[in-house]
Amino acid sequence: MASKTRPPISRLTDRTWLVCSVIDGSNRLVATEASSLTIFFPSSTRTQWPSRPAYLCAFRTPLPSSLDSSGPSWKMSLVSGPGRGGGGSPDQQELFVQKHVDYIRSLDTRRDELEYWLTEHLRLNGVYWGLTALHLLNHPEALPRDETIAFVLSCQCENGGFGAAPGHDAHMLYTVSAVQILVTIDALDELDRQGGKEKVGAFIASLQDPETGTFKGDQWGETDTRFLYGALLALSLLGLLDRIDLEKAVSYVQQCENLDGGYGVRPGAESHSGQVLTCVGALAIAGRLDLIDKDRLGAWLSERQLENGGLNGRPEKLEDVCYSWWVAASLAMIGRLHWIDRDKLAAFILRCQDPEGGGFADRPGDMVDVFHTVFGIAGLSLLGYPGLNEVDPV
Ligand SMILES: [Zn+2]
Repeated sequence: MASKTRPPISRLTDRTWLVCSVIDGSNRLVATEASSLTIFFPSSTRTQWPSRPAYLCAFRTPLPSSLDSSGPSWKMSLVSGPGRGGGGSPDQQELFVQKHVDYIRSLDTRRDELEYWLTEHLRLNGVYWGLTALHLLNHPEALPRDETIAFVLSCQCENGGFGAAPGHDAHMLYTVSAVQILVTIDALDELDRQGGKEKVGAFIASLQDPETGTFKGDQWGETDTRFLYGALLALSLLGLLDRIDLEKAVSYVQQCENLDGGYGVRPGAESHSGQVLTCVGALAIAGRLDLIDKDRLGAWLSERQLENGGLNGRPEKLEDVCYSWWVAASLAMIGRLHWIDRDKLAAFILRCQDPEGGGFADRPGDMVDVFHTVFGIAGLSLLGYPGLNEVDPV
């Protein structure tokens, strides 16, 4: 996924659709085109196919009829809404734990909606987001463990990597989610049934570019510091960091550092807090946080906080709950979390929850979704909000 052009049409078979989706900077689905049909989602304000999408995801998906029969039954829907963030009194400080647990559990029951099928290319990520949120909320039992394991394993491909859903091509991002899910529910041993963690490690290592040290997402070859961070994260969880050239990966991250202290998606690219998290996280895993100019980066990150307490991803952009995670976790890793107003940030995140139906939106008044729900809760956990499990910023 995440390529700027469509993959060759030869990848299609008569049992699959070619589906292109536009994902905005917050991982929100904006529009999907299947064959000549274009669908704009109600959660989007757009009415036109954007000329410069943040990501254009193209993927092939089995026809729905082949999916609704056998196989693991539990899957996560990424349909946004129906609730909206906000509501309640503006200065309420309560986290509605049970509402959020119920909201995440309800995501499995919305398969009659078209958007459920059109977001299948993110399904494994969705499971990871929902599961992580439930663990942070101290309700790990809310999702069936055996079905989760069965679903994850059903997404593994011959080459050891994982696709977004059964029958999808393997990609770094889903492979990382699969490893994270299995570690979270202490089920890494389950991999032994299908070639073991060595096979997963070999898939990830095969995506490293021997010249530059960075990583591709899949066989189609786009590189991005997200993939580099994901590779290091998954390999460190598997205890297989020695399978790659770590030194070269570290030097690639260094080349992505900008004069403003931030990091971009590749050398010379504009600083963005999502990319800052991936670069700082990669250096943390490699044990090389000493390479960061912490005061300069800390200053750039703390300037992301706006008057309303929320954080943005880049200068001149709107605040968004998911940046509570990218920015605050980066600050925590370099020991500068106290450089932002934590109380104001916590209050902003709490304003983004739907006190009735559960879930978090990117900002008050928008529709809730599972992506912003996990990052809102993770942000609160990082800020030490009482009653939540502690989150590791890396
Ligand atoms: Zn967002």
